[in-house]
Amino acid sequence: AILLSDLPATENLAALADKLQSCFDRQILIDGQHADASASMGIAVAPDDGIDGITLMKNADLALYRAKRDGKATYHFFEQSLDEQARHRRQMELDLRLAIRDGGFELYYQPLYSMHEERLMAFEALIRWPHSDKGMISPVEFIPLAEETGLIIPIGEWVIREACRQAATWPGDLSVAVNISPKQFLTPGLANIVLSALATSGLPANRLELEITESIFIANVEKTLETLHSLRALGVRIALDDFGTGYSSLSYLRSFPFDKLKIDQSFVRDLTLGGNANAVIRAITTLADALGMETLAEGVEDEAQAAILRQEGCHQIQGYLLSQPIDVAAVHRFIALMVAESDPERLSA
Ligand code: C2E
Ligand code: MG
Ligand code: MG
Repeated sequence: AILLSDLPATENLAALADKLQSCFDRQILIDGQHADASASMGIAVAPDDGIDGITLMKNADLALYRAKRDGKATYHFFEQSLDEQARHRRQMELDLRLAIRDGGFELYYQPLYSMHEERLMAFEALIRWPHSDKGMISPVEFIPLAEETGLIIPIGEWVIREACRQAATWPGDLSVAVNISPKQFLTPGLANIVLSALATSGLPANRLELEITESIFIANVEKTLETLHSLRALGVRIALDDFGTGYSSLSYLRSFPFDKLKIDQSFVRDLTLGGNANAVIRAITTLADALGMETLAEGVEDEAQAAILRQEGCHQIQGYLLSQPIDVAAVHRFIALMVAESDPERLSA
């Protein structure tokens, strides 16, 4: 901590912060290796941000936390809203812990449909958190916090077990797709959890698909590939989710034979607006074909999008056009409807 006292009211604190930061911005030598150094800073100013040391430190710390979230090597001034956000986060973390203890989550499922084979292939499990005061909380709101706090590990394990348990009650060869968060992917026990979930539920491994995102490749490529291969060895399928939004380096597509690329919905949204979205879809499907990977387009909302996707060589679709994510009971009704319509024999399989 740096305490600067007796600063004149006219002092330019931002310029001062810049100057301080540049002191840290240099290379240092450790055991003969050059390492880059930088500093993030949080700044609290008396008397507005507190008149005692404890309050000032706490508020500077909140600002520091924010500076780190903003991408590190930067600084942030304390604002009252940071305090409210921190309170909100703390409450949400406590509520998450209770939900884990009390089994307070639910899985919804959204159908994955093959235009190519004209049949229902699978459902993606999407977590929901019914909250007593706040209603249904979207995963977009709590998965990032669960990631930061490590709570994603028990939550993710529950999702895998529950999804396998449910999918084992579905007829025929219908699969279930489960999202695996980057932090969860890095935990050493993942393959064992998957194995145990399959064994307990009796679901054949080839009916489980794990969805991972491109971000797992930034951390440690070697470790990532090792984990992917150990999961593949169990016989489960592996899909790359939100394809096109991340780092989109082609090298990892060559380094692992994914079963499926899920083209992010941002590309699908642009399809009927003119422009070059068709060309992007075609490039992805051509590339995937060449690599022997299936393609699925996410967020397909209308027939026009589906028609273009089919024309550009995309195999599967998922989106509101077919169905929103639905609860377990509705899944059984949906299956009965779809399968009875297209392929009655599958129901009895
Ligand atoms: P995702 O895996 O890419 O899932 C697709 C998201 O798009 C879902 O949002 C789904 O409801 C939404 N969606 C589907 N069709 C359409 C459509 O036609 N139009 C639009 N606008 N949206 C559509 P959801 O359920 O809110 O989940 C958001 C994200 O949260 C997921 O993105 C996934 O990354 C994450 N997530 C969900 N469940 C889990 C989970 O169990 N574990 C982990 N680690 N992440 C999860
Ligand atoms: Mg997904
Ligand atoms: Mg996605």
